[in-house]
Amino acid sequence: MNGTNFILGMNFVIALAFCVVFFAVSTRSRSTDAVRWMGAGFAVAAVSRVFELTVAHTQWVQSSAVGSFATALGGLVLLRIGISYLYGESIRLINQTLFVLFWVTVYLLIYDAPRDTALHAVSYQAPFAILAFSGVRTVLQSKRRLPIDITLAGLLFLTGLHFISKAYLAVTLGAGMTAKDFVHTSYAIISQSAAGIMIVTVGLTLLAMLVLEIMAEERSKSETDPLSGLLNRRGFEEQSMKLVERSPMERHALIMCDLDHFKSINDTHGHHCGDRVIETFGKLLAENAPDNAIVARLGGEEFAVFLPWTNVEAAMSFAAALRTAMSSHAFAGLPPEFRATSSFGVSAWSSKMTLQQNLQQADLALYEAKRAGRDCVKCTTSEHPEKFVAAQ
Ligand code: GH3
Ligand code: MG
Ligand code: MG
Repeated sequence: MNGTNFILGMNFVIALAFCVVFFAVSTRSRSTDAVRWMGAGFAVAAVSRVFELTVAHTQWVQSSAVGSFATALGGLVLLRIGISYLYGESIRLINQTLFVLFWVTVYLLIYDAPRDTALHAVSYQAPFAILAFSGVRTVLQSKRRLPIDITLAGLLFLTGLHFISKAYLAVTLGAGMTAKDFVHTSYAIISQSAAGIMIVTVGLTLLAMLVLEIMAEERSKSETDPLSGLLNRRGFEEQSMKLVERSPMERHALIMCDLDHFKSINDTHGHHCGDRVIETFGKLLAENAPDNAIVARLGGEEFAVFLPWTNVEAAMSFAAALRTAMSSHAFAGLPPEFRATSSFGVSAWSSKMTLQQNLQQADLALYEAKRAGRDCVKCTTSEHPEKFVAAQ
């Protein structure tokens, strides 16, 4: 077994391993289709390695050589389709099929031409380089600019360059007089090693991207309340603390909200109606809160809003507007006179207290709002926790 055979075998195993991993990842990824196209790309690329071996070691030289070229190109096309899907670029499958057919025809036409000429080398490598560079374009045209996206674009660019340099090396080092000779040339060792490195680096980068995406999604799921679509308590605590740590000395405000007589809404109109009231309140909160506000459903029919860089007066106005919006909201499918009201407790953020203590402060004001008859806004400050002020 010479070096090239060994590297071919290794590339086969690596490509197949990537195929298996990509299909496994596709079951967890939100970009299932994209990942499966990529997995299929690695599978087809693995087949091309088998064809390379049959070129060298069987009598079916031409058909194996065509098979090797077509599957290597097909594998890269599938990977390219996967990248387009991943980056939300619409891609026409018919064009991709025609692309492969066109270049396989070109390959057949140059099959008998001398192999160490620029015409042969460039015609062979051109479609691969085109695919790699068009992958770079897809990544750069998207709005995603995470370090991993830049890495992928850079790697695809290097991959394109590597195909161009292969054309140069094939001419200078010689790629063998016939397809069968190829495996015995030193160019073959360089070419196949480079292909192996390319498969591993591009494969690992794509995998890293998919795993990061899955992790971000899991994290967002663990911080989101499915009914209201708002953050849950964990998300609220995480994000509020992040904001406070970034600007600890700034003025912030907290609002605690609680739906009034919610138990009786459930009892009178059913649990599903109660759910709709929660959903609606969450929507009103999300729609009316400033962009930088952190809005959450802490549990049951209890909500919290963290308003960064906001004084208590502005927070009170916001709560008062929300109270009015909620108490005047008509719910489709429920009796026309049905209204759901809510109570609000507002407090100024104190950097001397923990998040829990600050929430308790706002909760005190909320309790006062409930005591005052509900459907109203009350406020307290850390300096005067015993004094409550009502919104005008
Ligand atoms: P108050 O005006 O004092 O706040 O009275 P309340 O009835 O709203 O408060 P209470 O704490 O007595 O009842 C809250 C109810 O909210 C009890 C619980 O069954 C209901 N609840 C909690 N989570 C959900 C939910 O996800 N969906 C629905 N429909 N009901 C919920
Ligand atoms: Mg309640
Ligand atoms: Mg409650």
